[in-house]
Amino acid sequence: MKVAANSVVNIDYRLTSPEGELIDSSEGEAPLAYLHGHGQIVPGLERALLGKTAGDHLEVELAPADGYGEREAEKVIEISKEALPEGVSPEVGMELLADGPDGELLPVWVTNVAADTVTLDANHPLAGQTLCFAVTVRGVREATAEELEHGHVHGEGDAH
Ligand code: ZN
Repeated sequence: MKVAANSVVNIDYRLTSPEGELIDSSEGEAPLAYLHGHGQIVPGLERALLGKTAGDHLEVELAPADGYGEREAEKVIEISKEALPEGVSPEVGMELLADGPDGELLPVWVTNVAADTVTLDANHPLAGQTLCFAVTVRGVREATAEELEHGHVHGEGDAH
């Protein structure tokens, strides 16, 4: 079957910079399983995978807007260390969850630790970067009703 909305898609992928520097890869791990049409992978890759079938190979170069977005300066804030949750010892590169404007949880990354303050960046670490994906589709199936209800894929290594 072809990849469509609410397909469970298994992919092997290799992500590099335009210069060929390896950023991430599924090599040595099980293929990545995601629920198509739910924003679980970057938008440009999700678009490129629509209509593909098992065995298809594709290579796409994605502008930042089709990847993790442009870097936005206003998403970088400096806060007092005292404002961090109790028990958190901030380190550069650490990912934390912050309260977003609508009460949702937003991932932020620690980018600097000073004596009394910490710099938090809500830009994804790959924001502003052109991404080159080489992807092979390993499997496509319809999501079960339970998977759709939960909004994620079940199977090996799932949350249950
Ligand atoms: Zn579930």
